[in-house]
Amino acid sequence: MKTLHKYHLLLLLFLAILAFTELPQQYRTTEEVNEYFEQIRNNPPMLTAFFTAMPKGGDLHHHYSGAIYGETYWAILTESNGWINPHTLMTDTAGAQHKAPWKHLSELGSDSLKQAYLRKISVKDYNELSGPGDQHFFSTFAGFSPVASYDIPRGLQEFKQRAIAENVSYIETIMGAPDTAIRLSAAAMWEKSMTGARLSDSAAVSDTLEKVYAALIKNGITNAVAKFCRRQDLIHQQAAVDDSVFTLRYQLSANRNASPISVYRKLLTAFQAASMDSLIVGVNLVSPEDGEVSMRDYTLHMMMLAHLHRHYPQVRYSLHAGELAAGMVRPELLRYHISQAVMIAGAQRIGHGVDISHEAQCLQLLDTMAQRKVAVEINLSSNEFILHVKNEAHPLLMYYTHHVPLVISTDDPAVLRTDLTEQYVLLATRYPSLRYVEIKALVRNSIVYSFLPPALKEQKLQQLDKAFYEFEAALMKRMNAK
Ligand SMILES: [Zn+2]
Repeated sequence: MKTLHKYHLLLLLFLAILAFTELPQQYRTTEEVNEYFEQIRNNPPMLTAFFTAMPKGGDLHHHYSGAIYGETYWAILTESNGWINPHTLMTDTAGAQHKAPWKHLSELGSDSLKQAYLRKISVKDYNELSGPGDQHFFSTFAGFSPVASYDIPRGLQEFKQRAIAENVSYIETIMGAPDTAIRLSAAAMWEKSMTGARLSDSAAVSDTLEKVYAALIKNGITNAVAKFCRRQDLIHQQAAVDDSVFTLRYQLSANRNASPISVYRKLLTAFQAASMDSLIVGVNLVSPEDGEVSMRDYTLHMMMLAHLHRHYPQVRYSLHAGELAAGMVRPELLRYHISQAVMIAGAQRIGHGVDISHEAQCLQLLDTMAQRKVAVEINLSSNEFILHVKNEAHPLLMYYTHHVPLVISTDDPAVLRTDLTEQYVLLATRYPSLRYVEIKALVRNSIVYSFLPPALKEQKLQQLDKAFYEFEAALMKRMNAK
């Protein structure tokens, strides 16, 4: 008995020494980084250097075409002798047919035209006098969409290189789901039975959705999707973006400002693709939430997602919801988008979530999101530009204090001419109550709440932890050498 005691005491002593010498070192380093971080908190250039070097995990809210700089689109148009309309600055690739005033870029290309194009398709030199920010932002897409798919591997490589340079190790980029040639003869009748007053009969809507689903499957949507997946995989291999430090995965999206059957067809395509291709890890719903059609059909879209979830329970989806601000729509229309995305559609993540405080049952909804771990993708630059919501008016801290998981993301980094580093600088300067350790936890969230499969997620988390260890050790070595 006595020997056992002695053995226990020795073991305890050994553990105590170990705890004192080994384990706290990393903790002490993190604490020292905390102190350093507070010293540079109000110094944006120092914060930029700090956050550029800091490992940032993933960017989970990232639109493919909005992440490629206008300069690249211009170069693609120039090299391929694409088209431009000098009056509207709309562009097209060489294969298309256009009449005057459209001209080939080789006939017109000049630096002033290029600058005008860059202003048209991004926030470059934007001045509020030229029109509302949201209209300008969403109009940029028409300016580059025809060129966006011309050379996808080049686009993927562009933002991969940029990601590596700022220590981002994962991107989950959103691309439009392809449309299929399948058209249904009963489409108009089915649309009628899902809209207007019929919407309130959820059982009947569900029944109609089942019919549309069966018809699309019968007409061969699965084959069309398989063909698309093979092409997408090939592009991914050609681009050669995945390596030991960087991983790229895709979400496929449907445009919510389209007719109900079109939205459904794209959503089904996206779900089917995500179920058969491991590179496609999720589904999304995009384009302005305050559009006439997207407002009208919002609840129907949420019901479509619930229905598709029953067919594809393993497919994950994030929904743009609550990308609205007071004054954009009538107040009663600000009260239900996030709650329906969570409660009806069952989204695993929410994009933006800016109008949460206007939700009818706001505090209960926050509790539910915290309990279900529904992460919110925070896009500070985007919300400032499109919604004019920033600083204390932004609900970031409201989510944070209610324990709703948050991830920091860019939305459309090239249109907004920003990067993930700048999003962290804004976070640190605008929300001084968030200490370095807490910001570090938000970075970790960007992998934890990604749609990566468990084994890859674990691998990415281990890499991230190691990268943080090295980042902090290097910073402290530098500080102590001074
Ligand atoms: Zn977005």
